[in-house]
Order: sequence, then C-alpha cells, then structure tokens
Amino acid sequence: MRPLLETYPGMREAISIEPLAELPTPVERVPDFESLFEAASFHVKRDDLTAPDYGGNKVRKLEFLLGRARHDGCRAVMTFGGAGSNHALATAIYARRLGMDAISMLLPQPNAYAVRRNLLMGRKVGAELHLYPNKNRLKAGVASVSYKRRRSDGRPPMIIPPGGSSPTGALGYVNAALELRAQVAAGELPAPDVIYVAAGTLGTSIGLALGLQAARMKASIMAIRVTEPDLASESKARALFQETNGMLHQLDVSFPLLGFPEKRFALRPEFFGEGYGILTPQDVAAVRAMREAAGIPLDHTYTGKALTAIMADAAAARLRGKHVLFWNTYNSRDLAEAVSGLDYRELPPEFHSYFEEPVQPLDTADTNPASTGAQ
Ligand SMILES: *Cc1c(COP(=O)(O)O)cnc(C)c1O
Repeated sequence: MRPLLETYPGMREAISIEPLAELPTPVERVPDFESLFEAASFHVKRDDLTAPDYGGNKVRKLEFLLGRARHDGCRAVMTFGGAGSNHALATAIYARRLGMDAISMLLPQPNAYAVRRNLLMGRKVGAELHLYPNKNRLKAGVASVSYKRRRSDGRPPMIIPPGGSSPTGALGYVNAALELRAQVAAGELPAPDVIYVAAGTLGTSIGLALGLQAARMKASIMAIRVTEPDLASESKARALFQETNGMLHQLDVSFPLLGFPEKRFALRPEFFGEGYGILTPQDVAAVRAMREAAGIPLDHTYTGKALTAIMADAAAARLRGKHVLFWNTYNSRDLAEAVSGLDYRELPPEFHSYFEEPVQPLDTADTNPASTGAQ
C-alpha cells in the first residue's frame, strides 16, 4: 500500500497502482557536502534505487500510468522522448514486463554514451523504436503508427505524454512527498529547508510541490530546468499543479484544493547550458564530485545540472545553515553488462549514426564509467 492511498482511502477504488517500485527509497547523508556547502545537513533521496533492475524517477510515475493502462486493458503504450530518453526506456522495460507492447517515438538529441546504451537496452527489451527528424514528422508518425495498431489490436495504443508528466504520472511524486514526510517523522533526516530536483517535463517537481503542501511540509523546491522552455515553463507548472490537484480532490474530497506555492517553487533556467542533452563543464565536474563524495553515479543531462545548481548556490552562501535535500532522479543500476555484446545494427537504420559518429567531446568514458560497455 502506498502512503497516498493510506492517507486518502477514498482514492483506493479509482486508482490502480502497479507495484513496480521498492519503496521507500533510502535517504543518505553526505557529510563531505555538508562541510563543503556549509549546510546544516545534506542528504540524497535515492530515487536512483526505485527498482532492482532499472531505477530512477520514471518508475514512480509508471506505477500509476501502467496501473491505469493495465486496468483499461491496453495492449500497447506509446510514448515520446529524445533518442536516449530514460523515460521511453523505463516505459518500455516495465510495459514489456507487464505483457504490453511498447512504442517509443523519438526525436534526435546530441550524441552521448548514455544515448547509445539506452537505445541498445530498448532494443533488448523489445521496444518498437522510431526516430523522426523533427516534431512535424513525429506527429505524422503518431497518426500512422496508431492507425496500424488500431487495425492489428482493435484499438490504438495508450498515449503516455513525454516524461510521463500527466496528472496520473505526477501522482507518483505526490506519493513520494508523503513518503518523505514519514521518513522525516521517523528521524531518518531533518525536515528539509530546500529540495533540489532536475526538471524536464515537471511531473516530478510539481508532484512533489503538491504532495509537500498536502503534507504540510515547508520545504522550498528548486526545480532545475534542463529542457527547452516549451516543455518546462511557469504556465505548464501551474497547469499541471492545478489539474493534478483537481483530480485528487475529486477522487477524495479530504485532499484539499491548494494554491500554487508561489514562494516555495522556483523553476531555475540558469544551468541549462546550450541545449537539451548537451554537457557543460560544470555538470561534468558535478558528476565527478558526487562520485567522489558518495559513490553515487549521476548523469549529464539531468542530475549533473541539478547538482551544479546546488554548487552555485552554495558558492553564493545560500545554503549556509540550511537542511538541503538533493532528490536523485537518475537510475544507478548498471546496464553495461545487459547491453554488452549487442549489435547496434539490429536497431532500425535511422539510429545507426549514434554508433557510427562520435559522442560529444566532453562525454568521455572517464566521466561516465557506467556507459563504457555501450561503446
Ligand atoms: C526524466 C528525468 C528527469 C525529469 O523529470 P520530470 O518529471 O520530467 O521533470 C529528471 N532526471 C532524470 C534522470 C530523468 O530521466
């Protein structure tokens, strides 16, 4: 039973949860960062360990998204992302495990070892992978792939939006906030003053913002934007907050209708760099710092940039005396072995250039050891 349904039993009938995650995830103190940042405390919420085979933040969303897909009797799900999307891969892994087909509709992104590894892993679990040169072509692709599915399955695939950030997906992080409250109450960590989390399509940070308010926790959220502004904007943040809140209130009136937490939610654009999936020297340094301080692997697209924000705020003395929580959203289970020996030529030809052309110059095997197996 998840804390969301324990706290609001009125929702039990309406919400189907597929138990994919091993919860609660641990919180880990990092003493080296406490002294370095002059923080009162520094903890990592280890959502890299949400599941034994493939962790990260998408697993919490998929518990609710695939729960609904299963409940509705779907035979296939379709979702979206960059070529190396963690979300598309997580969806494929868990949909296939539940006996559904997984269709990944992907767009180009800068090349990286992590892109290669995720593509190979997607192929290995049997995802149907499509790559389109731009959004217009992708749109046309959605129409034609859905049409074919309707003809073969009798119905179109269930559409899961980019990043799994629908109100249903965001429930995973409303639940996570209630999980955090229980860990604070049990003395596992002090109540955080500030939580840093990478923001791509906002389901994670907005789910947390809503759950923290419902839980009457006062932490501020620093949502570090790592995608283009059209995916993560102030207006999208507000809309997702309201829609998710409205849905929860409708399912159980004891879940209050809340105002957007103006003072406790900041969408921070300054660490984005030149574009989605492009490494910055700062995030390469941040990934290395976390590996040295706690042995936790981060990635360059999301969590390295979130930790960069922490380091910048600490350098400006903004973390002095604060209880800081870094919400780690990146899978840390090593896929190197699972993909070693796979031949990229088994992927559709449009993906081959990721393996035949070099990765970005900053992405060396040294900065990302978890990916070396995918070279
Ligand atoms: C998808 C993803 C995020 C972003 O989560 P959103 O809910 O889309 O904002 C953060 N970190 C990692 C590692 C991710 O894969």
